[in-house]
Amino acid sequence: MTRCALVLFSGGQDSTACLAWALEHYERVETVGFDYGQRHLVELECRLAVRAQLHTRFPRWSAKLGDDHLLDLSLLGQMSDTALTDARAIQMNASGLPNTFVPGRNLLFFSFAATVAYRRGLNVLVGGMCETDFSGYPDCRDNTLKALQVALSLGMDTPMTIETPLMWLDKAQTWALSAALGGAELNELIAEHTHTCYLGDRSQRHDWGYGCGHCPACALRARGYKAWRSHGAGPFADTELSDSSLL
Ligand code: ZN
Repeated sequence: MTRCALVLFSGGQDSTACLAWALEHYERVETVGFDYGQRHLVELECRLAVRAQLHTRFPRWSAKLGDDHLLDLSLLGQMSDTALTDARAIQMNASGLPNTFVPGRNLLFFSFAATVAYRRGLNVLVGGMCETDFSGYPDCRDNTLKALQVALSLGMDTPMTIETPLMWLDKAQTWALSAALGGAELNELIAEHTHTCYLGDRSQRHDWGYGCGHCPACALRARGYKAWRSHGAGPFADTELSDSSLL
């Protein structure tokens, strides 16, 4: 059976690295995004920009990159009361989770993605969840997603694999992974066209990309970029990963 993938693609750095990873590994790759009333539509705009750039600048991937699906999950905004959809400040709550936490969000995302994948004849779901730079989100954990993979495969009566290539990488290794997959060209694309900042700020350009520079997402991205650079790879150098198992 040909393995074809559906990538959960938000337009951020992590999901763009995952998309490149999938394009390198599968014959056909489609993308799915979720519009759930995010405070900043800039994320959704970045999705289309990144896809267009990949088509233009990576001919070897362009033929594999198929349709994009944008699902309206505005009901999630109705059910949640968090800083991602309201204008409230991001802070840690009593349980140690950031108040950006939408309970069980990734369970819903993967379930909707699996429905799209089933109908499109795709049997691998790829997501950028990560335990290493762990924000405390229990629905990002490896065991959660392994359990979900079993539930989806049973519930749809077809093998549905969940792949999370970033699960054990830190942010510096994510930059290294994208460099290994697409070289300086891909990391330049990521810095210029992806978006991660919680505040939706695209007025300030840093060497790691656009953002306010202070929110938790910007801080993490900046720190990872600095660590990757300081390992001696240089800005957007064509690096090879020493651990080929990452690929
Ligand atoms: Zn920010």
